Amino acid sequence: MGSESHQLHILFFPFLAPGHMIPMIDMAKLFAIRGCKSTLVATPHDEPTFLKSIARPKDSGFDIDVVTVMLPLKEVGLPEDCDNLNKVTAPEMRKQFMRAVMMLDQQLEQLMEKLAPDCLISDIFLPWTTEIAAKCGIPRLVFHGTSAFSLAGMECVRLYEPQKKVSCESEPFVVPNFPGEITMSRMQLPDFFREETEFTKFYNEAKESEKRSFGVVLNSFYELEPAYADHYRTFLGRRSWFVGPLSLCNKENEDQAHRGNQASIDQHECLKWLNSKQPNSVIYICFGSMANFNAAQLHEIAVGLEASGQQFIWVVKKDPNVEEGKEEWLPDGYESRIQNKGLIIRGWASQVLILNHEAIGGFVTHCGWNSTLEAVTAGVPMVTWPVAAEQFFNEKFVTRVLKIGVDIGVKQWVRLIGDSVKSERVEEAVKRVLVGDEAEEMRRRAKALAEMARGAAEEGGSSWSDLGALLQELRLQRLAHDKKI
Ligand code: UDP
Repeated sequence: MGSESHQLHILFFPFLAPGHMIPMIDMAKLFAIRGCKSTLVATPHDEPTFLKSIARPKDSGFDIDVVTVMLPLKEVGLPEDCDNLNKVTAPEMRKQFMRAVMMLDQQLEQLMEKLAPDCLISDIFLPWTTEIAAKCGIPRLVFHGTSAFSLAGMECVRLYEPQKKVSCESEPFVVPNFPGEITMSRMQLPDFFREETEFTKFYNEAKESEKRSFGVVLNSFYELEPAYADHYRTFLGRRSWFVGPLSLCNKENEDQAHRGNQASIDQHECLKWLNSKQPNSVIYICFGSMANFNAAQLHEIAVGLEASGQQFIWVVKKDPNVEEGKEEWLPDGYESRIQNKGLIIRGWASQVLILNHEAIGGFVTHCGWNSTLEAVTAGVPMVTWPVAAEQFFNEKFVTRVLKIGVDIGVKQWVRLIGDSVKSERVEEAVKRVLVGDEAEEMRRRAKALAEMARGAAEEGGSSWSDLGALLQELRLQRLAHDKKI
């Protein structure tokens, strides 16, 4: 078969954490919709979730499938069920987990030999995959799962180290060689930027492997962040393709309901609740798949939400050891008082389905990039409450650049357990984002961005075209490869 008519086969290898796997599954679907054969790598534990997410496109005839690799947990001393980063509870376990992931190299190599894909798209936390792709003579594209703003901002901090020139943790500095006079403090940076840790070395290696790779694919769209997209491409010299928002490939309610883990509430029940509410009258609160709060903080959120007088859907992590309704953080008689007004979902919510409902008027978020972009795509203003990773950068992007959010005021980057916020601040921020002129103005801007997002993903839009250009380059690579053989 000639390379022009040859169907490109892309192997997608996500890092083993929900916030990395979910957009990668969406990306595999998007590539399949554009005519590629998409194969996703998963562990046997995650395979059913992957299969559930791709069932509808697969049934519609798109060429998409899942292959599995075994995570060597026993070999690194981890329990059998510790098969995803969201089950890692201690720093030592994190190191073991990363070691187990690194030990997947031989299995990947064997898979690549067997499947002979034309390109590997793998997560930034799998830097060793660059060499394996090179060995197989195919390009590796890196997927970070964040915006150009945060990628470029973090890179400018990594390269120019402004955090080393301040006198204390809270002193603000301007991110150097970065558009927009964006200020940060040491406290808001990831721990591996503040001190040399084992992860600093790993992160630096990952960034080096990115430079050696074919380029970077971003879950973002050009019009959302033109100055930062250009900066990333020209100043930092990264070949990159903006193909998002990826969540938009889930067009129907059914697709949105089956995205990610099994939802803890039936989609029809959830939609019935939302259908009974006025447009823009409900605040949605969810802190992603990793962040956790202690009982005292959850209690403050509960009190703040009730005091705000607003309607809400609040997603709380389920504690399997405590009976529902008897949780330490739950104020006495809370759920009977908030009946009809508030819905607490213990476990997993179909976030995209909820965010896209017209009743949702605001989103209290930890600023994970998926959540942030999903809110942009749904035209929903945010209360920003960053916790870890690059979330403080995403907060700046939402509040300073896009101006579609108010910050709750957290100051400290903390690995997983959120910085503490009093109920009064929750109450005030929820009201600010939901009612009044400021809220209206933010909502107007957010709705305009949502329209831009849809335009970018539609045929002829910027993300559609960028993906087309990428596929064309990959076909040329394939042609060059065929000629060499
Ligand atoms: N998510 C969801 N339901 C939940 C929690 C999370 O659907 O109850 C999804 C959310 O839509 C997003 C992803 O999980 O796509 C979380 O990614 P994000 O980057 O926002 O945060 P992380 O979990 O990586 O911290």
